[in-house]
Amino acid sequence: MENEAVSRNFIEQIIDKDLAEGRCETVCTRFPPEPNGYLHIGHAKSILLNYGLAQEYHGKFNMRFDDTNPTKEKEEFVDSIKADIEWLGADWEDRLFFASDYFDQMYEAAVKLIKKGKAYVCDLTPEQIREYRGTLTEPGKESPYRSRSVEENLELFENMKNGVYKDGEKVLRAKINMASPNINMRDPIIYRVAHMTHHRTKDAWCIYPMYDFAHPIEDAIEGITHSICTLEFEDHRPLYDWVVRELEYPHPPKQIEFAKLYLTNVVTGKRYIKKLVEEGIVDGWDDPRLVSIAALRRRGFTPSSIKKFVELCGVSKSNSSVDYAMLEYCIREDLKLSAPRVMAILDPIKLVIDNYPEGQTEELEVDNNLENPELGKRTVPFSREVLIEREDFMEVPPKKYRRLYPGNEVRLMNAYFVTCTGFEKDEDGNVTVVHCTYDPESRGGNSPDGRKVRGTIHWVDAASAIRAEVRLYENIIDESKGVYNEDGSLNLNPNSLTILPDCYVEPSLKDARIYDSFQFVRNGFFCVDAKDSTDEKKVFNRIVSLKSSYKLPS
Ligand code: ATP
Ligand code: MG
Repeated sequence: MENEAVSRNFIEQIIDKDLAEGRCETVCTRFPPEPNGYLHIGHAKSILLNYGLAQEYHGKFNMRFDDTNPTKEKEEFVDSIKADIEWLGADWEDRLFFASDYFDQMYEAAVKLIKKGKAYVCDLTPEQIREYRGTLTEPGKESPYRSRSVEENLELFENMKNGVYKDGEKVLRAKINMASPNINMRDPIIYRVAHMTHHRTKDAWCIYPMYDFAHPIEDAIEGITHSICTLEFEDHRPLYDWVVRELEYPHPPKQIEFAKLYLTNVVTGKRYIKKLVEEGIVDGWDDPRLVSIAALRRRGFTPSSIKKFVELCGVSKSNSSVDYAMLEYCIREDLKLSAPRVMAILDPIKLVIDNYPEGQTEELEVDNNLENPELGKRTVPFSREVLIEREDFMEVPPKKYRRLYPGNEVRLMNAYFVTCTGFEKDEDGNVTVVHCTYDPESRGGNSPDGRKVRGTIHWVDAASAIRAEVRLYENIIDESKGVYNEDGSLNLNPNSLTILPDCYVEPSLKDARIYDSFQFVRNGFFCVDAKDSTDEKKVFNRIVSLKSSYKLPS
């Protein structure tokens, strides 16, 4: 019991206390993205945290688009965000909301503040407002419009709504305290004039609420009990609390901040991803080198691997970067038992088994996953010519080389023992074909007489193998060389993508569908690319290599 209490994160501790003290009866959380880009791994953390808490406390999880800023918002992003959250498995049931649905209530809330003498229309220019705001060390100066009467403010605010003023001509400000040590409390702007078409309300409004005013209202309207956001909003919390207090909501929501998730060797910020996309450096928001949710999915990550990753990260109050290798660890753990283990040759060279009958093919039965018998078995064709990895043959082997070289016997995985008898070269001296003989008594790769071979190599049947393209990835940024160049641009890793157009996979992959994942013996875990793979040309993304030196932090 004691242990359990200790392992609860600080947000759970706050919620436990709120429930125990009767501040709230149930738990309602929300995920409030701005529809101005695709979601990334950091958002996944926020989604799974909010959804997970709602589940843990048998409460509710709302999905809400924070679409109060019409400049950057697009319908395309609304759709992608919904798809990503569904894929992650966070279920908002019938509670899909848009902040723009509350524009009427927000307007009424502003009127209420005016009537209470807590808001005023200000005519200062944006530059003047900035000037009057003061600095971290100096207090601000009161606006000459601060003492306008309630009647005048009501009339001017209505005029703002009715389109009487140009953008920037007038704003509505909360009347709080220009001398507050917290700059956010120095009469913040709560409504601005913006003659813009909104993606949902179209031209119904030409005034729009500011985030700090809108967000607490959205939370209060929906009955959110715990409004979880990231640390940069910590200084805004007094304003959040001021808004819910002055508007006299009966069940005030509570804002709780946690540290953003950052990863090494990748870009997470929407702004940076957008730049890479717009400059054509990557192949769209779902380029497998990115960590947008769409990209992780396309690369072959699973929802459960991302969930596991987020859990391992935990929630904290201090910013730090998580090693990208931890994300790789999570997908490896997930696929180890669930992905079929098949043979694929990425850099092929032909191996001819000279004593194998010409024209004969046999079907060998092999396990789909040695560690998970539940995945069953399949058959793999074998005949006189197979393809092996070029690196699995050497004319002159270095010490300790256990694979094929003239005179050496190895096991063809699941098939037969073969002994290398020779090879052919082209005019340039490149090896083109390797020759061997097989021992028919060693079928299934079993030693016929207790004889040992020291190497096992994988292969595919040359006649029936399917040609495929394989894409190998490295981190898009090599942090060991610095994230930024001197001119401030991102220091991109030139080797982040390698395309291998001439690979061969075993015929069992003929019917593999997009997003299907496999372990390719010795080469790593791979996933059928959702964008470019077709029946005519299969494309596989390497999700992750098989091993790494990464150790989970204890
Ligand atoms: P970014 O600037 O990284 O693109 P954002 O904060 O502008 O993100 P929003 O759509 O406003 O994106 O965020 C929706 C929610 O996701 C917010 O509650 C925000 O705090 C949270 N969030 C954003 N980035 C991260 C992150 N890296 N880690 C955890 N939560 C995050
Ligand atoms: Mg934002």
